[in-house]
Amino acid sequence: MKNIFPENAPFKIDTEIFARVASVNNLEILAKSRRVQIGVGSATGALENSARSGVGQFTLVDKDVVERSNVATQGYLVPDIGRPKVVVMAERLRAINPAVAVQAIYGSFHDLTDDDIKRLAFDPFVDSATSALAPGASQTVLVGATDDFFCQARVNSLALHFGIPSICCQHYAEGLASEITFTHPVTVRACHRCILSSRYEAYLNHGFKNPVGSAGSPISSSGKINALCTDIEMAILHHGTEQPRWGDLLARIGDRNLVQIRCHPDAEKLLGLNNFSQAFSAANSDQIFFGETIWRRQIPEHPNTGYSRPCPDCGGTGNLTQRIGAFADTRIINS
Ligand SMILES: [Zn+2]
Repeated sequence: MKNIFPENAPFKIDTEIFARVASVNNLEILAKSRRVQIGVGSATGALENSARSGVGQFTLVDKDVVERSNVATQGYLVPDIGRPKVVVMAERLRAINPAVAVQAIYGSFHDLTDDDIKRLAFDPFVDSATSALAPGASQTVLVGATDDFFCQARVNSLALHFGIPSICCQHYAEGLASEITFTHPVTVRACHRCILSSRYEAYLNHGFKNPVGSAGSPISSSGKINALCTDIEMAILHHGTEQPRWGDLLARIGDRNLVQIRCHPDAEKLLGLNNFSQAFSAANSDQIFFGETIWRRQIPEHPNTGYSRPCPDCGGTGNLTQRIGAFADTRIINS
């Protein structure tokens, strides 16, 4: 392996593996960045994309083993069946880039305390399989990729509590459409809860249970959302740099932190949505069919913006950094 950085640098970059993306991605920044992913199911593609982009540090949390049915929908292979998903994906990431450092947590997200998450998200560690050193993360992005409302809700609280960017990915029923919400402590004003307040209301006050798993979601729907998740991750990790492709992208996205993808032409009819029709109402409708992405501006939930109360998580002030350190235990959802 050639190291394009000095011998004493605490990270290595394989210049041959990354030869064709070195002009696009800032490999030094990415090598020092950490992706903490809660849920290693349909988002395996996004994880692999991260490693292929040059992200150097990973923390994976998932309590499941690979089932036979996961082969068709989640990027696992038959020889992986029966093994913990986090262990399989850790090996996959190391196989993509032998310089990465991965910590694989096989267990329940809710068994981890906030102090545990803090350590896993920021502290130096040594990869137990390769002895690769992950110095303390210069940037951490927290990714929620589960089909469990309470896990996704905790990702929002953790991102606010630690003041870090976060990305949450969800499929709608049968992958007919997909959704990404993301936060950044500086560039957006609304947290995930502001964006999804009706979903919080349904779960917390009306006993709603999620009927949407990955059943019926084809791999093509996962491919679309995983690719877009990678774009957003690159925009977050390069934010404020001079990198031509990504450096100003997050600022250009601005407060459009609800992103929806239409994965089938009948998605609106079958899911009861009208967002795509609204977005394209003035366009040449004959050319609009499916595969589109819309970026929707979001406002913080607060009486000043027309809501009945401030968002219980971010406070609705529009400044997400005001909630840094404010959560006693992110496993308890604020009421
Ligand atoms: Zn909020």
